[in-house]
Amino acid sequence: MDLVAQIDHWGVIAPDRIVHLSGGRSLTYGELRRCSNALTTYLVQTLPDDHSPVVVWGHKEPEMLVAFLAAVKSGHPYVPIDTATPAQRVDRIKDAASASLLLTPPRIAALLAETGETAPIPARQVGPNDPFYIIFTSGSTGDPKGVVITLDNLTSFVQWMLAEQIFTEQEETFLNQAPFSFDLSVMDLYLCLATGGTLFSITQAEIANPAELYRTLSRSEVTTWVSTPSFAQMCLVERTFSAGMLPHLRRFLFCGETLAPEVTAALLERFPQAEVWNTYGPTEATVATTSIRITSDILTRYRPLPVGYPKPDSRILIYGDDGEPITDGQRGEIIIAGPNVSLGYIGRSDLTEKAFFNLRGVRAYRTGDWGHFEEGLLFCEGRRDNQIKLHGHRIELGDVEANLLALSEVRDGVIIPKTKDGHPDWLAAFVILAEPPTVSE
Ligand code: AMP
Repeated sequence: MDLVAQIDHWGVIAPDRIVHLSGGRSLTYGELRRCSNALTTYLVQTLPDDHSPVVVWGHKEPEMLVAFLAAVKSGHPYVPIDTATPAQRVDRIKDAASASLLLTPPRIAALLAETGETAPIPARQVGPNDPFYIIFTSGSTGDPKGVVITLDNLTSFVQWMLAEQIFTEQEETFLNQAPFSFDLSVMDLYLCLATGGTLFSITQAEIANPAELYRTLSRSEVTTWVSTPSFAQMCLVERTFSAGMLPHLRRFLFCGETLAPEVTAALLERFPQAEVWNTYGPTEATVATTSIRITSDILTRYRPLPVGYPKPDSRILIYGDDGEPITDGQRGEIIIAGPNVSLGYIGRSDLTEKAFFNLRGVRAYRTGDWGHFEEGLLFCEGRRDNQIKLHGHRIELGDVEANLLALSEVRDGVIIPKTKDGHPDWLAAFVILAEPPTVSE
């Protein structure tokens, strides 16, 4: 499968079909092809042919998709950063990635206005083993680390999902809830682009305004819902969040954090026509490596819910503390090996060597997750370290602590996650100030 050619061919055979709907704006497949080719020409003329990353800093604007495609067509991986990221951190990511360029939606729009229609430049496109995108995640020492995903990694993930799910070409609308800087969005974005579907983005402004969010959802005609379980849990608070609101919905695809049985039960009841799928995996192994449809039967049989069976071209092993595989269903560290495992962290061979290794010729990753197998099904039992998921966001507590300690006002400090219903809900910082506060009389 040539993913980029597959995406482009929709621009030829279905140029008027909508590829992206976001915040009242829309983009067709024809426009995506034309604009990404024009931006590719600019990038080829401006940047050296050195695979240096291009940072794309924005939110859910249609220009984001144009920039992602143009970057890879011009031989450069892209680094998506959401506008929620503070400018200081954006600078650190740009430095850590040794990025050659930073693009924003207004800049992209201006460049497109200046450039006419151009032909694509296939010779420069990223090759199968070249970096395709780099997603930055929280690092335990306060520095974000960039996970390098190749075209082959992404293709392995997309082909698996296309073989497992029955998507009707040019008929699906995919919900895009996660920002593009979170690898969950890769699931909706590339399944959509590969099948000629429509990506329906909900923006941060819409999420922050529940009345607006439900109005938007009811107009969305979404057929495939992709989100964190916590987002669906939040939506369930609204009584009318049901098949009446989303009559075309065929499936929920979840990833990124624990899927609670209560959330699944409520979804199966309110959306009797839709399937609920749990998938599991870290960014380092391209979105997800296991999956399972949670039927009523699975829901009754297992607590907690399983995260599924490994995809056919990958292996999951459980390692004991001695670094040897455990085969008797006991708990240990989840190891992922397969064509979806990343090359490592950009510019951080030290971290890459610790987390990645070669398992009889296959790239493997130590996830840091506890897990075990039961009847061939993987169960994920939380972290071995100080990494947490806070409302779907992957955070190393050490990252927050290091940045807290970098403040001149703070002499010492510690971050404690506060839980609600057994899950992190907010973070508390306890600090010793460098100077005792002055008390005015
Ligand atoms: P991220 O790299 O942001 O996708 O986060 C990956 C981490 O999220 C994994 O290492 C797990 O700790 C957690 N995770 C992902 N999917 C699931 C799931 N289905 N159930 C429980 N935890 C999950």
